[in-house]
Amino acid sequence: MLTILGSTGTIGRNTLSVIDMLGKTNSIFALTAEKNYKLLFTQIKKYKPLFAVILNEVDADILNNLCKKDKLKTKILFGKDNYSFVAKHSKCKSVLSAIVGAAALEPTFAAVLAGKRILLANKESIIMSGNLLVKQAKKSGAILIPVDSEHNAILQIITSLGFDFNNKKKSNYIKNIQEITLTASGGPFLNYSKKQLLRVTPKQAVKHPTWKMGKKISVDSATMMNKGLEVIEASILFGLKPNQVNILIHPQSIVHAMIAFKDGSVISHMSSHDMRIAISYALSWPDRYKLNMNIIKQPNLKNLTFSRIKKNQFKCLDLCIKALNIGQNAPTILNAANEVAVEKFLENKIKFLDIPVIIDKALRSIPVNKNSTLKSILACDKLTREYVVKYIDKKWK
Ligand code: NDP
Repeated sequence: MLTILGSTGTIGRNTLSVIDMLGKTNSIFALTAEKNYKLLFTQIKKYKPLFAVILNEVDADILNNLCKKDKLKTKILFGKDNYSFVAKHSKCKSVLSAIVGAAALEPTFAAVLAGKRILLANKESIIMSGNLLVKQAKKSGAILIPVDSEHNAILQIITSLGFDFNNKKKSNYIKNIQEITLTASGGPFLNYSKKQLLRVTPKQAVKHPTWKMGKKISVDSATMMNKGLEVIEASILFGLKPNQVNILIHPQSIVHAMIAFKDGSVISHMSSHDMRIAISYALSWPDRYKLNMNIIKQPNLKNLTFSRIKKNQFKCLDLCIKALNIGQNAPTILNAANEVAVEKFLENKIKFLDIPVIIDKALRSIPVNKNSTLKSILACDKLTREYVVKYIDKKWK
């Protein structure tokens, strides 16, 4: 039985589409949303989960009435703690973590402590908690399976080569890897001049050239913050040193990742840019389901291009590498500052190029110290958000 945290989002909807293709519509334990009760109700009618969770009581009352009218037995819950309740419930075996941002941390942590199989789309929780999530998974026997297409591609290569990947012990692939490369489409503003970037609007920033995604990750892709977060995620999840993770610009988004092994061999993973392929693999890992998807054919391979990132080309990416090298709570600070800055950009309160300025300010102002418990991570997240909100209010009156 599967719990989908964030079933109304892009990843949540894509996951349900895979579930449909596999004919497994009766395998859903719980579905959750923040406020989109209309879509959540449509999903409840179709998948008949045991539980559905929404943030506010008012929305839960509406959902309850709709369910009563249709004689649906799904139990409607509300409030933050109930995301964790459905993530750690003994009847659910797997949890897809696809809530956007820091709000996913607590339910993802609860699923890890309960030893679940976690399909990890939400990268922010691993960025915020550093090694803590992986350490707890080792203790509880939880397995963290990446959904992010690049990390999923790395997992596909490792598994296809017969290496073992689980979080209980140091996996045997690590000693064979020289470095890994994650590809980046470069986002919608890859070749923009500084002058053009100064005028970028939220509407332009949420339009990704190859992937269909939620607003926050689309802005992160436009600033290249997303790629920086992915470097941190890869380093933590696969136990690699920061300098073992590289990035290549590849606007066609066909090759998702490559692993260079110690003997000089490089093995890459390709697929069309459809998140359902990575989601299906995360659901079936270490096996594969039969999916009726488009296979990459020769015409798509003809024009593949790859280029290096120039020094100082993407400030947000540089800040991610900086935070990864500082370690401790620096990635938590970086993530919180970015979430607030992106929100303010989407509200038109700051400009696109202000995002890295704000993150840099937070990284230089919030004290760096150890992040050893969930409580300390949440405290650092809160402190940074408060600091950044005040800073923006003062500077961009
Ligand atoms: P969306 O914005 O499309 O969806 C977010 C989901 O989270 C919705 O179900 C939303 O509910 C719910 N949600 C938002 N805020 C809260 C909250 N405070 N409490 C509880 N639920 C909340 O995001 P995406 O699907 O694009 O991304 C989800 C995660 O997956 C992100 O961390 C992203 O980085 C990662 N990811 C996404 C990829 C993609 O292709 N989209 C690729 C790789 C990773 P509601 O609908 O009610 O607002």
